[in-house]
Amino acid sequence: MASRNSLIRPLVHKLHAYVPGEQPKIKDLIKLNTNENPYPPSPKVLAAVKAAVDGRLRLYPNPTAENLRAKLAKLHRCSPDNIIIGNGSDEVLALAVRTFVEPVAADVNRRTPRAFTGAATVQYCTPSYSLYPVLAETHGAATNAVVLNPDFTMPSVAELKRGKQWDFNVALTFVTTPNAPGGRGYATSDLEKLCRAQKGVIVLDEAYVDFARENALKLALKHPHVLVARTFSKAYSLCFQRVGYFVGHPELIAALHKMRDSYNVNGLGQIAAEATLGDLGFYRANFRAIIATRKQLSRDLTKLGFRVLPSETNFILAQPPLFPAKEWLQKLRDRKILVRWFSAPEVSSYLRITIGTPAEAAALVKAVENILR
Ligand SMILES: *Cc1c(COP(=O)(O)O)cnc(C)c1O
Repeated sequence: MASRNSLIRPLVHKLHAYVPGEQPKIKDLIKLNTNENPYPPSPKVLAAVKAAVDGRLRLYPNPTAENLRAKLAKLHRCSPDNIIIGNGSDEVLALAVRTFVEPVAADVNRRTPRAFTGAATVQYCTPSYSLYPVLAETHGAATNAVVLNPDFTMPSVAELKRGKQWDFNVALTFVTTPNAPGGRGYATSDLEKLCRAQKGVIVLDEAYVDFARENALKLALKHPHVLVARTFSKAYSLCFQRVGYFVGHPELIAALHKMRDSYNVNGLGQIAAEATLGDLGFYRANFRAIIATRKQLSRDLTKLGFRVLPSETNFILAQPPLFPAKEWLQKLRDRKILVRWFSAPEVSSYLRITIGTPAEAAALVKAVENILR
């Protein structure tokens, strides 16, 4: 047998896997590290999922999540052909890379012309969602990571043009809006200017949009090269079920469908997401509660010497006082509160704190007071 190393593609050897936040099994842990919703799904969703657990589990689910797409089309006032569902929005993001971007090696020998020079490049801002570079690398594509302003706002199109690093000619650009882990929301008018300037496909990843002032969905229905990504995970308390989707032009959506697994969305996930859409009022009350807790926690931590960035999401990014952020991570963990710290230099002086219940926020504030004492 050949050496085990030589059984594996060199590209895979060099890969850096995405590092998800921990899911530790510590009793009474206050878990504020992965932007999960602190409130459970609606009772109607739980009932729908429970009612579906029977002998039907032996059957394949609907291959295109037909009912769910029909319900989403109604909600977003578009056609089911404008929608593709994924096993979490992570899957549709991965499909976008595989559908629109050439691997570098294939691009070298490519004969068919494309509309732009960067056919093998995935572009994104940094800091933003750390999955994007992983998706590009697994595909063998090149990356263009463009640094945001120091306050994590996004440069204007004019500034991007002057700055030279941004490339308006790449196959695929990811913009997280509102951004993570910075938390800032972007104005739809600014996003539209960016979309107009961009030659390739642009994905607006709206994972946190339900906690924001604006959403950019209309851009996906207006511009044929714009896709908006949404997920049931964060705002709709369904991380466990893995359901996300793109809205966009039917031709792009049809291309993405060709690249996915035939039964990519599990049946219970489809049922849970459909039931979610039947009880949106329940979730809107949760959004209001989370936004109120976010405001209160931001004020409380600011009083305690934290520098809290403005957020339009269900988390805040904050620079803690007195000790390095990494030490705060451990000190809070010792008090059974888990937050997130990233080692990347632009964000290593910050903690990312998911907005939990008011009681969890109060416990965090108490722990901080305790640490500062
Ligand atoms: C959480 C998150 C996702 C992934 O959501 P899933 O639907 O659970 O795969 C996508 N984009 C961003 C920016 C996220 O924070």
